[in-house]
Amino acid sequence: MMPFVYRRAASIDEAVRLGGEDGSVFIGGGTNLLDLMKGGVATPQRLIDVSRLKMAEITELPDGGVRIGASARNSDAANHPLIRTRYPLLAQALLAGASPQLRNMATVGGNLLQRTRCPYFYDIAFEHCNKRKPGSGCDALEGLHRNHAVLGASDACIATHPSDMCVALAALRAQVRVRGARDERVIAMSDFHRLPGDTPQRDTALEPGELITAVDLPRSPFAAHAHYLKVRDRASYAFALVSVAAALDIADGTVRDAALALGGVAHRPWRVPQAERALVGRPLSADAMQAAADAALQGARPRPHNKFKVELARRSIVRALSVAGGLA
Ligand code: SF4
Repeated sequence: MMPFVYRRAASIDEAVRLGGEDGSVFIGGGTNLLDLMKGGVATPQRLIDVSRLKMAEITELPDGGVRIGASARNSDAANHPLIRTRYPLLAQALLAGASPQLRNMATVGGNLLQRTRCPYFYDIAFEHCNKRKPGSGCDALEGLHRNHAVLGASDACIATHPSDMCVALAALRAQVRVRGARDERVIAMSDFHRLPGDTPQRDTALEPGELITAVDLPRSPFAAHAHYLKVRDRASYAFALVSVAAALDIADGTVRDAALALGGVAHRPWRVPQAERALVGRPLSADAMQAAADAALQGARPRPHNKFKVELARRSIVRALSVAGGLA
């Protein structure tokens, strides 16, 4: 591991000031960052510890929504009464991620910043990785890419986003609050993670030095009908091949609103509003669920090793909606 300077921020203002210095990186639980540093993938000059800042509260907002502080541990968020009762989709997704030990350590802010688990990114013995070394190429294109993206990828990078939590947050239309040197701003979850394009080294819309302070969940009509389905190679402690966050607002047999997002298929959580619209205003029928699945996978461009993901994702959407809607 490269030498680095460690600073513990005493306030959000100080964290933002220190985080704005070149070579600085924020650290919360460190469950992903320390792995990257030990492997030589991340080489920050300064770690700014934000884990002791008062940003761990989970509170109700005046409009009926809920704010989750960025330093809240994943396990605390998953088990909080406000999350369990109002956002069961998020609780399920959080509990589908990692292991109990990691969830006890990892923060919500850190989860938003998880980096891809593409093996060519993680192992510096592979020379060509545009995300790790911009302009170097992409070893996954001609290598093993069974776990890689089928939607929204580019010729520069076909990596997938690894978080379960973020898939549920995208479906639930969350907003990310961030503090920079000049001001505070709010980024819609659907805009927070980027597609790779020509700059896959940038995972998010954050500007250098910006600190995530909280995630806001809007008031939700989806508590009664929600299901997070994660399909993976083993029953626990594995990243998703495909995951689906599905939630419905159903009244008198008709879907009034729908929330749907996919994980494991793209460089960011994949929310497709037209897939949600395919469900709204009609009963939750097999035809409606299939139409939503087809809309969500429109434009899929699989590669030789991950063709299976397209059909797996379609079937997973139908399954997740069926469970959420009480049909399975
Ligand atoms: Fe790197 Fe992306 Fe290619 Fe993986 S898919 S090797 S992360 S550029």
